[in-house]
Amino acid sequence: MNFRWLAVVAAFAATAAMAEYPDKPVTIVVPFSAGGPTDKVARDLAEALRKNLNNQTVVIENVAGAGGTLGAGKVAKAAPDGYTLLLHHIGMATAPALYRKLPYKPLEDFEYLGMINEVPMTLVGRQTLPANNFAELMKWIEGNKGKINLANAGLGAASHLCGLLFMQNIKVDMTTVPYKGTAPAMNDLLGGQVDLMCDQTTNTTGQIEGGKIKAYAVTTLKRLKTPALAKLPTLDESGLKGFDVSIWHALYAPKGTPKAALDKMNAALRAALKDADFVKHQEALGAVVVADGRVGGAEHKKFVEAEIAKWGPAIKAAGQYAD
Ligand code: ASP
Repeated sequence: MNFRWLAVVAAFAATAAMAEYPDKPVTIVVPFSAGGPTDKVARDLAEALRKNLNNQTVVIENVAGAGGTLGAGKVAKAAPDGYTLLLHHIGMATAPALYRKLPYKPLEDFEYLGMINEVPMTLVGRQTLPANNFAELMKWIEGNKGKINLANAGLGAASHLCGLLFMQNIKVDMTTVPYKGTAPAMNDLLGGQVDLMCDQTTNTTGQIEGGKIKAYAVTTLKRLKTPALAKLPTLDESGLKGFDVSIWHALYAPKGTPKAALDKMNAALRAALKDADFVKHQEALGAVVVADGRVGGAEHKKFVEAEIAKWGPAIKAAGQYAD
């Protein structure tokens, strides 16, 4: 067999292998700790994807640290075979403004599979805080300047972005305490070791409902419909005009992943986002599953470009960087 024939046979074998894709478990890397909001979206999605991928197992691997950049960097360098994916959030767009040496290029090193959901955030505090509403919180902050700490999941995390915008808006600096995800941060908030946190409703709704933490406001322009959160004012109506942060989550593959695998995964993603169990569970946690028009890879890439342009200047103005 000459070389040309070998190439034809190899190409045929690769196409045949992709026709069977996935024929072994697919791993979704979550760049934050297990049990946190990104992880919860991923575990719900894994189950819905499985139903639409010939019942193939979808495994979650938590590669937490450095505000989500460790996990994203790992996937950027993974084999582009469709078996390693990344589920990331707005950090995909905020990290370039925060890290001098980001180990990947968000717009060049990934194939964009599509968006999953948008999740509002809540400003919450430890149970023992004396403030019971937003106005009381502002008074407490005023009287405790220099002593307050604010938990987050590291530079580039959603909680970091939200906390940064909150501090910028009220013109008060707090000591930020970074964790590998907001699951461990929530544990410390529950234990009273940290004062405040801004985190996705997917992580806070249950604790608010159970009265384990105090909730002061939501970060979207409109109040939320989720029963446990419906009474919370928006930050905008509380005086922080225009405050509007919602955290999107999306799915990516390493650059160079074969188109056949991307198409199959995108179709599975579209079907998963219509899965009744997935939608119901996400809605109960305050998340809004996105509709078809926003699920395409090309549409999502355009959106991320716009998000990088939107958040970059605000983050750079805050002057926070990591090497
Ligand atoms: N939601 C967290 C954040 O970015 C990360 C996590 O999922 O733990 O702040």
